[in-house]
Amino acid sequence: MFDTLSDRLTSVLQNLRSKGRLTDADIDSTAREIRIALLEADVALPVVRDFIAQIKQRAKGAEVSAALNPAQQVVKIVNEELIGILGGETRRLQFAKQPPTVIMLAGLQGSGKTTLAGKLARWLRNQNHAPMLVACDLQRPNAVTQLQVVGERAGVPVFAPEPGNGVGDPVDVARRAIEEGKRAQHDVVIIDTAGRLGVDEELMKQAADIRDAVQPDEVLFVVDAMIGQDAVTTAEAFRDGVGFSGVVLTKLDGDARGGAALSVRHVTGQPIMFASNGEKLEDFDAFHPDRMASRILGMGDVLSLIESAEKVFDQEQAQQAAEKLTAGQLTLEDFLEQMLAVRKMGPIGNLLGMLPGGAQMKDAAANIDDKHLDRLQAIIRGMTPAERADPKIINASRRARIANGSGVRVAEVNDLVNRFFEARKMMQQMAGRFGFGGGGGMSR
Ligand code: GDP
Repeated sequence: MFDTLSDRLTSVLQNLRSKGRLTDADIDSTAREIRIALLEADVALPVVRDFIAQIKQRAKGAEVSAALNPAQQVVKIVNEELIGILGGETRRLQFAKQPPTVIMLAGLQGSGKTTLAGKLARWLRNQNHAPMLVACDLQRPNAVTQLQVVGERAGVPVFAPEPGNGVGDPVDVARRAIEEGKRAQHDVVIIDTAGRLGVDEELMKQAADIRDAVQPDEVLFVVDAMIGQDAVTTAEAFRDGVGFSGVVLTKLDGDARGGAALSVRHVTGQPIMFASNGEKLEDFDAFHPDRMASRILGMGDVLSLIESAEKVFDQEQAQQAAEKLTAGQLTLEDFLEQMLAVRKMGPIGNLLGMLPGGAQMKDAAANIDDKHLDRLQAIIRGMTPAERADPKIINASRRARIANGSGVRVAEVNDLVNRFFEARKMMQQMAGRFGFGGGGGMSR
């Protein structure tokens, strides 16, 4: 996700670190490099111009902070400006005072609208809403069936015209859907509309008619981040033809540049509200400009990481593990439990991407694949409870037995045990240094 841009910006800003004082010439040359990085990432020209002008003005201006060195100040300014371009505050969905809240989706065919409808419905359901999906894409053969499949996967009902009634009138379907939503007490109704391969008047008119008929609380414009500069022109066409209150970026997983999508907010004035980064229903989340900016600047997305961690970690268990850790008493049993919890958060490569410096750890990430973790789990499971509780007792003959039982080489068992001791020692030292936990004697 925005890898190229992230790599470039990180290295430009890194070059500043060695400088004690920044001259105007340093700022100019940094601004020039940032400009190139943005243009190469496909960010729209007017957006780049404004961005660079702001950076220069602020960096040369009187923004001096005693706490930050000059390079850090530039990073801070770039970060703040990036957050500004991405929309500033997180924009949340606005719910109607009188349910149902009506959300209408608009966008080109293939932008990921139908998939998004399912993702959004599931996301809402997880937050205790009772959404219903509505199939108003009556143009494309199979669109209705596709939405029904998506709805089933998301566990959300789909309102669709009865088959055999000809093509049907999408405006009428939308109207009836709202009635049905009220009757069946759905608090959110999500309307999937027809898309075309290119922007055309008929498409716009149909979407505008549906909008007029149902008066949606939100119109979300769905845009594929991979279509490059077309994202901006398409957004402008939808803004003028239908109007929208928020943007959803899709396919962020497949895109190395993505800058055009980042320009959509600045160009249309409407906020990016959600981001989709994969084909599965769970590859989706609310869009947070501050988190995205820090991810792009290689500062990681620690907040998102903490949120996913909170979903899978049992607080009490984590607390116990932390206490044992600082006392040097962590066992392989705890290690296994923690590993299983971490894996519930998703593929390990995704997690690394959220950590500070994670973007630079891509090569390392390629080595820590999930198969490797499977083997580690198998090794620990091949140990007796006594061995897990006190790994010191794992001597040569025990290692041979464990290797044999879990189908790995003895060297792999050695490696795991040695690394475990190293990690335990390092974590205990870190805990001591940062002043949390009691410290306690090291048991090895
Ligand atoms: P629609 O025509 O706008 O309704 O688009 P669809 O929902 O049918 O999506 C078009 C294609 O894009 C499908 O093959 C989806 O699986 C795929 N797709 C949708 N969202 C994403 C995403 O975030 N990432 C990736 N990689 N593929 C996606």
